[in-house]
Amino acid sequence: MSIKSVPDDIGSEEFANWLQSLRRDIHRHPETAFKEERTSNLVANLLESWGLVLHRGLAKTGIVATLHGKRGPGRTIGLRADMDALFIDEKNNFKHKSCQQGVMHACGHDGHTAMLLGAARLLAKNPDFKGTVQFIFQPAEESEGGGRVMIEEGLFDMFPCDAVYAVHNAPGLPTGDFAIRSGPMLAAGDTWEVEFSGSGGHGAMPHTATDPITAAGAFINTVSTIVARNVPSSEAAVLSIGHIHAGDYNSPNIIPGNVLIRGTARSFTAETRDLLEDRLHCLADHNARAFQCEAAFRFIRRYPPLVNRQDQVDIAAQAARHVAGDDRVTTDIDPIGGSEDFAFMLEEVPGAYMLIGNGPGPFVHSDTYDFNDDILLTGVRYWMALVSMELDGQTS
Ligand SMILES: [Zn+2]
Ligand SMILES: [Zn+2]
Repeated sequence: MSIKSVPDDIGSEEFANWLQSLRRDIHRHPETAFKEERTSNLVANLLESWGLVLHRGLAKTGIVATLHGKRGPGRTIGLRADMDALFIDEKNNFKHKSCQQGVMHACGHDGHTAMLLGAARLLAKNPDFKGTVQFIFQPAEESEGGGRVMIEEGLFDMFPCDAVYAVHNAPGLPTGDFAIRSGPMLAAGDTWEVEFSGSGGHGAMPHTATDPITAAGAFINTVSTIVARNVPSSEAAVLSIGHIHAGDYNSPNIIPGNVLIRGTARSFTAETRDLLEDRLHCLADHNARAFQCEAAFRFIRRYPPLVNRQDQVDIAAQAARHVAGDDRVTTDIDPIGGSEDFAFMLEEVPGAYMLIGNGPGPFVHSDTYDFNDDILLTGVRYWMALVSMELDGQTS
């Protein structure tokens, strides 16, 4: 695909075809966290060829591209797309299947990148707005916190924004519908672990040992009381244990000296997040002491809750209604237990995270998932409407 020949008429078949081939090209060449070099080069070359001013290298492969409106200075907004793929072996058999074994665009970030590039193409051709748009292409959304790293490396110091926006596709939501909520929309996703240690000993003489298995068993039974007894009924939270390791398969007659338990914690407010950490820590310590063992506890904060602001939700929903019609935009969906790196950006700058329906089909992170090309133009139109709403107060 020649960069120079990129079409610039959103209503034309050529533009739709270009957008689809761009999305499929990215899908075929997936790259994981902080290694999105081909993708980053592709994005940068296109943006540069359209005359945008680029800053590269934030969080290794991240890009910020600046576009000033032709109607003079005004507000600045950041539009974010994520570029990374996952360690999944793709099971699809279509032509644009991943050419990288074990790596797959299974979350639709190929589509997010293509949609934001499509909007950048059209806005670069006719920047008919007041103020500035920062196009933010971030690496490592999946579990590595690339957005957080961009912020730590000065994203909003170098490129201050008055508001930030992101879009994520949502399998299960009808094709091209939009969904959002104000306030907490996605959960904080944290990892916790406890290592119980005792003396261990001969399985036939437990009275000579201190047994961390007993302490761990008692602890496991009390974990479920945290959500049931400590979290207010108006709040949602989840604690799950996903990993337990102790002893050796070949040694059932030995009481091990250590038991490791690892789990996940999900919450929607800073207060509940702190409460989960405190109560887990307390129960780990006291159950250990009750059985003459010790507990080493760690709570590893990964992603904060994603909290949308009402003002930006109103603008985002208005843009979505302009594109899809009133009856295809929901503004009060239930909070979702998943997590998202964009939450770090929303801690710094007010904004809104919008879902766009990917239609029926496998959920994200499935090895048979694919981004729905039918929503590419819808996504571009959403971005265009949002820029108009935000920077002109109108959709024309
Ligand atoms: Zn994902
Ligand atoms: Zn994703």
